[in-house]
Amino acid sequence: MEGRDDPRGSAVRRGRSLSRTAGAHRRDGGDPRRGCAGRQGLRAPRPRARRIRCEGRSGGRGSRSGASGGAARREAGARDRRGASGDPETARRTASHGDRSGRRCGGRQGEGSGSATRALVWAGVNELAVEQVEDPTILNAHDAIVRVRLTTTCGSDLHLLGGYVPTMRAGDVLGHEFIGEIVETGSEVKNHRVGDRVVVCSFISCGKCWYCKNELYSLCDNSNPNAGIPEMLWGQAPGGCYGYSHALGGWAGSHAEYIRVPYADQGAFTVPDGVSDERALFASDAAPTGWMGADLGGVRPGDTVAVWGAGGVGQMAARAAILLGAERVIVIDRFQERLGQVEQVIGAETMNYETSEVLAELRETTGGRGPDVCIEAVGMEAHRDRPDFAYDQLKQQLRLQTDRPTAVREAIFAARKGGSVFVLGVFGGFVDKFPLGPLMNKGLTLRFAQQHGHRYIPMLLERMARDELATEHLATHVMPLDEAPAGYGMFKEKTDGCVRAVFRP
Ligand SMILES: [Zn+2]
Ligand SMILES: [Zn+2]
Repeated sequence: MEGRDDPRGSAVRRGRSLSRTAGAHRRDGGDPRRGCAGRQGLRAPRPRARRIRCEGRSGGRGSRSGASGGAARREAGARDRRGASGDPETARRTASHGDRSGRRCGGRQGEGSGSATRALVWAGVNELAVEQVEDPTILNAHDAIVRVRLTTTCGSDLHLLGGYVPTMRAGDVLGHEFIGEIVETGSEVKNHRVGDRVVVCSFISCGKCWYCKNELYSLCDNSNPNAGIPEMLWGQAPGGCYGYSHALGGWAGSHAEYIRVPYADQGAFTVPDGVSDERALFASDAAPTGWMGADLGGVRPGDTVAVWGAGGVGQMAARAAILLGAERVIVIDRFQERLGQVEQVIGAETMNYETSEVLAELRETTGGRGPDVCIEAVGMEAHRDRPDFAYDQLKQQLRLQTDRPTAVREAIFAARKGGSVFVLGVFGGFVDKFPLGPLMNKGLTLRFAQQHGHRYIPMLLERMARDELATEHLATHVMPLDEAPAGYGMFKEKTDGCVRAVFRP
């Protein structure tokens, strides 16, 4: 058996039970497993907080980024001026390597100085703030520090924002999909050097445990220091994920100027020169998640595939199905701008569920049989104008159930006999009225997973370099990190055609 390697630092041990942790809290008032920096829990003071309630707040503050837009050109120009090696900020950070190491475990970094990392933090349900947090530092020899170049919102962040995931704490840095540049490496990092432009998988994998060796990377046994929480909720713990609650490790997220990347040789992938930041960014999560849905959902040449949700993940799943040889791919959503992207960029058919009888039309269009593979890319806050949706929403708001499986149910009803349903949308707990009958009697295969991105990211970057996979159209709004609270408002309300709000720290 592999030795447990606590990614938070060599001096701390991975907790195995909540009771032990709770006891430790009682003894010294703090978490004994804490490292000193680069993760959530220890916060610098908040000298310049911009705290904004996110509910219903949206507006045109972000710059729309399109292939022909002036904003896109301005951003490209700024990127060129900054350059990978000529970046003065990088130079400053790398030059101060000794200082950074020397300050390790030195207490509250950034206090009264301007050197702290700016980040977007969760400040409460539907409350976000841009604050200064501690600089991340190298805690283990296989860590790297990455200066974030672009970091994107994700539909799954909205579950955190809305308070549907219970293990968030005020001050937690959000964000799990990012591309950046390595500014510091631990002594055991062999595959990367300072200056490398890398995209980082949102789930953290050690590369050495049984799960990682079996390519089940998001189930890594070593990357979630808070395993006791999910063990209580789910029986066993998945791996850790950046910026995604304490149940998934309490790792500081990527909506920040700098982020600590543990197991950097395993989780960071060098981006080919010809692939833009805006394209490679989505190799962090949306593209590998979508690819996994098509791959593990069993898409074969000639199949008909239906995808619920035309957000980033749904679009990537549809594109993957096409590249894996599906004959027909149909994407279902209600937002016309997103369906337009599906038709124009992804090359799939679309169905607007507000104007279509989805089940009847899917059946009719497949000669009465139904789709071979159904991929759900919606998650626990699905929407639908139907009685089962109203029932689910009420129960969820009363906290009688944690998730709304509206699209999962529909996918199960739509799939052909003997077909498969793959669930990519994020669910956290328990649901009511789950259709076991059709699953059993139609002989369906139902699968789920958080992304095993390490399987797919190198291949996806190659496809991006060959222009087989375009993703930059998903970044409809690119803006500075200071505007991230407004960006989340826009993303949440899907105003101004927002598919993904992307931040440039
Ligand atoms: Zn994501
Ligand atoms: Zn592992």
